[in-house]
Formats: sequence, structure tokens, C-alpha cells
Amino acid sequence: MTGEILLKAQGLERDYGDRKALRGVSLELARGEVLGLLGPNGAGKTTTLSILSGTLPPTAGSVRLNGADLLDGGRAAKRDLGYLPELPPVYPEMRVSAYLRYCARLRGMERALIPAAVDEAMRRCGLTEVGSRLIGKLSKGFQQRVGIAQAIVHRPALVILDEPTVGLDPLQIRAVRALIAELRQEHGVIISSHILPEIQSLCDRVIILYQGNAVYSGYLNELNAVADVQEFMVSFAQ
Ligand code: ATP
Repeated sequence: MTGEILLKAQGLERDYGDRKALRGVSLELARGEVLGLLGPNGAGKTTTLSILSGTLPPTAGSVRLNGADLLDGGRAAKRDLGYLPELPPVYPEMRVSAYLRYCARLRGMERALIPAAVDEAMRRCGLTEVGSRLIGKLSKGFQQRVGIAQAIVHRPALVILDEPTVGLDPLQIRAVRALIAELRQEHGVIISSHILPEIQSLCDRVIILYQGNAVYSGYLNELNAVADVQEFMVSFAQ
């Protein structure tokens, strides 16, 4: 990995009662880099991203964003990240632009900067034409764009997207992937997926999670060189 380190997580563990969901996962992300978390259902992707977004405390481990401790409850580091959860909260009765203004405010953005930031986020996410529409009246694909827009509206250094294309139809998936591909110009990005081609098309590096362990961490082209990727996936899934 080259470039300035944006995010550094070390030794992340998370227990749910007796169940060990994460067993010591470490990762780093440089500015402008796109990192993929790949793994089957239950591998620990959502748990990892919830910890990295500061919304779930780990049982052990540390997370630093821009050098600041993300887990100490302070707002400084959290302002520097945007997060689209796997099951985002839905505000069907809000209009798109009003919702984005609300999200920017929630992230501590200065009031005077918000209108331009909302316009910019809507432009980047292809939402300008639907800014005055109710979120609940939009298609699922457009609702997901709104989800990505709320994650970038306050111009964070890091954007975390948990399974951003799940439940979308093929056309919507293509549109959302194109949008994610553009994000790297301004943000470091972490996305999770259980779809290998999605990770291959969007990411520089990948961490493969299986049963709470990082069983592979590296560049995708190196993974391809080591072995056929599908075979690799199958080999640890058995
Ligand atoms: P998916 O693709 O299905 O979302 P995932 O890779 O995101 O899976 P996690 O949701 O992080 O995996 O779950 C990791 C493990 O932790 C699973 O075994 C899951 O059942 C367990 N788990 C997750 N959340 C909880 C919870 N709130 N209480 C108990 N167990 C949980």
C-alpha cells in the first residue's frame, strides 16, 4: 500500500455473548484507495464496518482515523467519515434535499456551507432532478443513491458502504457501482460485498473474511496470481 494512511484498525474483536463474531482483524486504508471486505453471510463484514464507523464498540482493538481515536466517543473523527449501513434508516416522508440538509447538520457541518454541499452531493449522486421528491416515492435504486449521498454530503475523508448493491436490480446495480467508482476521487472508500466480481471491479485491495478471521489481505491482482479466485473462495468455505 502506498500513500498517506487514512484509517488504521488493529486487533478488532467482537463477541456477541458466547459467539465470537470477529477474532482479531486488522486493516489499513490509504487516501484515495478503495478497500473491499469480501465474505459469505455471517463472516463478520457488518460487524467490522459497524466498528469502523464508530457505531458499535469492539470487545477489543483500536481504530484511528486521520490519526485520531475513533472509539473514544469524540465527534472529531466521526465528522470525517460517512457511513451507509446495511439496513439504513428510511425517511419516506422527507424530501431528498431536506433529508440531506438534515444529515449534513447531524454531522456537524457549518450551516452556511450546507446548501452548496447538498447541491454538490445531489449532483454527484445523480439526484438533482429528484431533490424535491419524497424519498418514499423513489425507486430502490434512487433510494440507495440517497443513502450514498447522505454518506458523502459532509465531505468526509472516509466513506464506508455496507453491501451497497444488495436488493437492487441489474440496472440499478450498474448505476450504483458507477457512482461508487467515482467516489475515490475525493474519498477513501471501504465497501463490503459477498460478490467477488463486484469487489474486483471496484476495489484496489481486498480483505477476505471468514468466520471472523481475515483469511486473505492483499491486492486483487496478487490474489489472481496466487490461485484461481473462485477456487480460493471455495477452499476456505469448506
Ligand atoms: P451478512 O452478509 O449476512 O450481513 P456479515 O458478514 O455482515 O453477514 P455479521 O452480520 O457481521 O456478518 O455477523 C457475524 C456473526 O455475528 C454472525 O455469526 C452473526 O450471526 C453474529 N451476529 C451479528 N450481529 C449479532 C447480534 N446482534 N447478536 C448476536 N450475534 C450477532
